[in-house]
Amino acid sequence: MDNLLNYTLEELKVWMKENGESEFRGKQILSWIYKGINQFDNMRNIPKSLISKLNENFIIDLPKIIEVYKSDIDGTEKFLLGFKDGNLIESVLMRYKHGNSICISTQVGCRMGCKFCASTLEGRIRNLTTGEILSQVLVVQNHIDERISNIVLMGSGEPLDNYENVVKFLEVVSAEYGLNIGQRHITLSTCGIVPKIYELADKEYSITLAISLHAFSDEKRKEIMPVANKYSIDQILEACRHYINKTNRRITFEYALVKEVNDSREDAKALGKLLKGMLCHVNLIPVNEIKENTYKRSSKKSIDDFSEILKSYGIEVTTRREMGSDINAACGQLRRSYMETQEMREE
Ligand code: SAH
Repeated sequence: MDNLLNYTLEELKVWMKENGESEFRGKQILSWIYKGINQFDNMRNIPKSLISKLNENFIIDLPKIIEVYKSDIDGTEKFLLGFKDGNLIESVLMRYKHGNSICISTQVGCRMGCKFCASTLEGRIRNLTTGEILSQVLVVQNHIDERISNIVLMGSGEPLDNYENVVKFLEVVSAEYGLNIGQRHITLSTCGIVPKIYELADKEYSITLAISLHAFSDEKRKEIMPVANKYSIDQILEACRHYINKTNRRITFEYALVKEVNDSREDAKALGKLLKGMLCHVNLIPVNEIKENTYKRSSKKSIDDFSEILKSYGIEVTTRREMGSDINAACGQLRRSYMETQEMREE
């Protein structure tokens, strides 16, 4: 059976036509789903005959909420979600004054191999489908019974390594018939898969592109990010300039500060020189320490110095506020710790 969440309105209209139904039913059905109705039998304006056809052909496949962890510090909620094939992913809901924001995953695991990241330790298990990416927003929105207004694709996985499904997700989630979340409220974060940045630029979406840079030189970047062996910083910046030309959108550069690895004043100056004059913004992320490696977070003083130096190059800088530090909210840690406790129980 097909997951209806994988369908765009256009595709559903085609199905309706091929199955002797009126095309406008497509819109009615999707609007029920995106209002939170996930059983065909509860779709009141749909004729019985069509409901039984839908039941024969489709499911609205939402993951199961396995656990919800809520931070006592800031209300951040971490959802551990399970798919039918037994795979687990995590999505994080963050509450801000400007609205609810969700961080979602695009793959089970990841094959990019960044040294400081917990999501990549067992490699990529599989891509998520469009419907599975979308269903994270749906299931959490239904659970909290409040609207989600912002999305960041910064959970497990490399979005541009699952390009087709992610692009389709962007189309549906921002469509009026879908969740109607404005593209300006969506951020896609990538470690820098250059050819896909060009492809994405040509779509001319108004989403924010965030690049995980984490180093000013290829040599340094290679030490922590294997993808740097494939694409150079020059190539990435060239692709970013193309993205800016096409979309007129400011790029975000993410820079995880790791003690004594990439956080010196010299690093900051070199990064300042590299990015000076570009339509961009740097987001400094004090690295989240994970138990599988020995990387340490930079001191508050180094973070502040780093930020001031970048600002002296005319670059806009923000330092990411840590959310949900009491609930393992960062970077694939929850899924791993959950799986470890399950393994212990099974032993
Ligand atoms: N694969 C994509 C998106 C997922 S990771 C990417 O690389 O951008 C989202 C962000 O979290 C990236 O900037 C990533 O480098 C960062 N990240 C991963 N592990 C981290 C950790 N332990 N501490 C801080 N940031 C981390």
